Amino acid sequence: MNPFLVRDKLPDFFNVKPKHVIPAINKVINENLKVVSKIESMSESPNWMNFVTPLEICSERLNRVWSYINHINAVKSSTSYRKVYNQALAKVTEYSSHLGQSRIIYNKYKNILQNNNQLSHSQKKLIKNEIISFELSGVALHKKQKARFKAIQSKLSKLSSSFDENILDSINNFKLVISDKNLLKGIPEHVVKSAHLKAKAKKTKGFLFTIDFPSYLPIMQYADNRKLRKDIYTAYNTKASSLMDSKFDNTKNINHILKLKYEMSKLLGYSDISSMLLKTKMAKSSEEVISFLSKLTKKATKSALADIDDINDIAKEFNITKVMPWDMPYLSEKLKKEKFSITDEEIKQYFSVNNVLQGLFNICKKIYGLNINETKVSTWHEDVKFFEIFNKEKQLVGKFYLDLYARKEKRGGAWMDEAISKYKFMNEEESPVAYLTCNFTPPLNGKAYLTHDEVITLFHEFGHGLHHLLTEVTEYSISGIKGVEWDAVELPSQFMENYCWEWSVIRDMSYNKKTNAYMPKKLFNNLLESKNFQSGLQTLRQVEFALFDIKLHTEYSPKNRSFMKILNNVRAQVSVINTPTWNKFPHSFSHIFSGGYASAYYSYKWAEVLSADAYSLFEEIGILSKTAGNKFKKEILSKGGSRTAMESFIAFRGRKPKINALLTHHGLTN
Ligand SMILES: [Zn+2]
Repeated sequence: MNPFLVRDKLPDFFNVKPKHVIPAINKVINENLKVVSKIESMSESPNWMNFVTPLEICSERLNRVWSYINHINAVKSSTSYRKVYNQALAKVTEYSSHLGQSRIIYNKYKNILQNNNQLSHSQKKLIKNEIISFELSGVALHKKQKARFKAIQSKLSKLSSSFDENILDSINNFKLVISDKNLLKGIPEHVVKSAHLKAKAKKTKGFLFTIDFPSYLPIMQYADNRKLRKDIYTAYNTKASSLMDSKFDNTKNINHILKLKYEMSKLLGYSDISSMLLKTKMAKSSEEVISFLSKLTKKATKSALADIDDINDIAKEFNITKVMPWDMPYLSEKLKKEKFSITDEEIKQYFSVNNVLQGLFNICKKIYGLNINETKVSTWHEDVKFFEIFNKEKQLVGKFYLDLYARKEKRGGAWMDEAISKYKFMNEEESPVAYLTCNFTPPLNGKAYLTHDEVITLFHEFGHGLHHLLTEVTEYSISGIKGVEWDAVELPSQFMENYCWEWSVIRDMSYNKKTNAYMPKKLFNNLLESKNFQSGLQTLRQVEFALFDIKLHTEYSPKNRSFMKILNNVRAQVSVINTPTWNKFPHSFSHIFSGGYASAYYSYKWAEVLSADAYSLFEEIGILSKTAGNKFKKEILSKGGSRTAMESFIAFRGRKPKINALLTHHGLTN
């Protein structure tokens, strides 16, 4: 039996092979096509049972298999797997555009909405979402335009896949071997050790450094050797560009992606790419987004300039006369140590992975009454763990895979993805399953510790996981995070981050077995004081990315094509750091070129307004308050896309969101 097609249990991930991919995809798509054509030719009038339900079943079947295939490509990539993955991707894209352009199905959805008075609020919401999605898939186009639209969709999915491959390949292609240990002064011992092991594995002498994030960051933060920092910075910030290797250059991909998206927006009758993409967001126009980002810029600039002054001051102590970008993390680390007498390394000893997980699970128990237990299933790597979540009534709510550590064949970054989404089709019911994926430093001698930033990342992804897993919506396409506006999706994840700054939470998870001690309160106070360290700079950095994204997709036209020019204008407008013009950040900006964040990078800040404001209720009545927790679960986490994010927020907070809580959280109120 093909492991991707097993439905009564989870796949035997350990034994999935490239040869399973195409047969699995073919089978599901062929079955779905039969259902779709039967529904298209149906003569009775459409209703929820005879029309929406069969389509929902099709969607669930395909998404599940595709999620398995897609996930393996992200965490256990190989040349042979990648090849079949891309073939499968083409088939899925072809199927989605075929379905998305079916005028008959589109009209039937509209017909149901008009003629069925018995539909519930959430059923109506699901159908409305479908109608918008059909319209954005070009359903209303003429035959010739439709063919063109479909060709664009298929090309775009290939381009974004190639965009990601170039990044991964250029990261894997870069190696810096240092033979003289004296050049590694300042770098934490465990990083040096793992660089030595990496060299040894390649049968090389010395120390091998790469530019995957866990290798890149400690060098930028700690290497006393300025040239080493510059070399690594240069490699990291020119990856997937011709400056590094023309073989992995993403310039053409970016130009092509933008050109096709622009053409798409014109076909659908929009003035620019953003107007098309904002159709499914909480924010209604790019002006609204730009005005929000400008407000943040105004609030953050003063504080960012003060941050720069501090950096320039400390630079003198290190004989650096002109601070360059590769000095920033290094000097910031020194400044942090001087100001708060803490370093990432010092904090790290208190956060063993097991304690952090226990702390996280305790919060879930206290505020939501959940019990989370580990259990064994087949996974794609021995380090991957698997857990089950039970509610107060001891019923199984959901399950998740936890894949924490960086590996060569794994895509970088951290994310949550849906393996199975909750649904109920007549007598068939399924509870949700999630993948939580991070890229933390792998355990050394069997022990893994996290920096405070990594703890935050874990909490963040877990927040997405809870949103997906605690849903009570049984209509498939709006359960969990499905059907939630993009710019509201980060609410539950950023909400969880708040707990990483609470003493009662941190103390409990900070026990160090070796020294038999908890993190000292004083150290935590220093950490807390450091929370808003450079928050002006951090905010401006996020604003720079978000503004570049929204302006790129609003201003781009065949006459205004230079994405680097748009970026440079944005940098001139908001940045207080002189980023070199050869910094090719866009070439690896996968959020907007291969992920779902095109015209939506602002969502991080936008959702932070929602999450800070939501958390302020907990600050008012108790951070581990059951009452607040139950309300948050009931009105936000469990509701998924069954109503608009604004409706959910108002139901929770009793009013519309305000920006104040976000500014207070970042110390940006003056
Ligand atoms: Zn997130």
